[in-house]
Amino acid sequence: MDFNLSAFAKDTHTAESEHVKVLILGAGPAGMSAALYAARAELQPVVLTGTELGGQASLTHVIENYPGFPEGVGGLKLGELFQQQAERFGARFDFETATSVNLSQRPFVIKTYSKDYLADTLIIATGASPNHLNVPGESELTGKGVSYCATCDGWFFKDKKVVVVGGGDSALEEGIFLTRYATSVNIIHRRDSLRAGAILQKRAFENPKISFTWNSIVTEVLGENAVNGVRMRNVRTNEETVIPTDGVFIFIGHTPNTQLFAGQLEMDEHGYIVIDMLMRTSVAGVFAAGEVADPHYRQVVTSAGMGAAAAIQATRYLQEKQL
Ligand code: NAP
Repeated sequence: MDFNLSAFAKDTHTAESEHVKVLILGAGPAGMSAALYAARAELQPVVLTGTELGGQASLTHVIENYPGFPEGVGGLKLGELFQQQAERFGARFDFETATSVNLSQRPFVIKTYSKDYLADTLIIATGASPNHLNVPGESELTGKGVSYCATCDGWFFKDKKVVVVGGGDSALEEGIFLTRYATSVNIIHRRDSLRAGAILQKRAFENPKISFTWNSIVTEVLGENAVNGVRMRNVRTNEETVIPTDGVFIFIGHTPNTQLFAGQLEMDEHGYIVIDMLMRTSVAGVFAAGEVADPHYRQVVTSAGMGAAAAIQATRYLQEKQL
């Protein structure tokens, strides 16, 4: 039956099309590791990188908890190493973004702006994107003082004052990083205790440039062409204050990039793809790995592990189906 559908899919597509055994969406740690494992299984995987080669990890200045790098490794560097290793075994990286997927026919059809990919198996590793506060001034001043990436934008805040919103690992890690440039970093958190891990908490508390504003949320980002302050509300007292700042760095979690698969794959109430222990989604032959399917760990090492597992399962699936 698969073969008939395959022929149908080829016949009905006028755009250039390519048939691949393993198509991987996303080039973060999960996608790159999947590519490495599928390449070593001699499946000639193709990775559609989307717009974020290296994924979110590549935006991290130094990754200190990826095993094998006792002195830490730059996020960008680690991404390059992942890619080189996968390419060495025959993985191909196409700088394409999937615009639609059809998982109801086989092979699966994945369209990009320039061509169609017909894939026997699909590994989804599209990751997650930073959440926004959705308060007045935020979108208007993005790139003008509002940022979601300290590694990308920290340099612009040399000798300036910034605030960081959030209380998780990202807020503290990026806040600590920002003290390289900024004169002061005020971390605004909606509760009175942090979600971040112990080591980061200790480092942040010990850093003389970092201060904390507890039990507070940012309700407005202020400024015309550049940020000049934020309006905050204390959630316990309801007291409103305005504080001057040159920059607002927002690290309040992520939302999985799963819009392309809505209605085609089972997802949880937060939009994460539901997978089983074997990285299998609700559609046979479609696997998911990394942050797109992981609301729990979201580490480079766990994402990489999931990517490897997904590729091993895709290999087994192809063997079983004799594809
Ligand atoms: P996170 O752990 O989900 O933390 C998000 C933070 O933002 C929480 O403190 C949360 O407050 C706060 N928040 C959420 N929505 C908010 C809103 N609307 N307004 C104000 N504050 C809001 O996200 P993350 O820090 O990006 O970390 C994501 C994952 O990556 C985690 O698993 C983390 O361990 C991992 N990570 C690890 C490292 C590392 O190991 N070095 C570095 C970065 C990230 P509440 O605490 O009140 O919920």
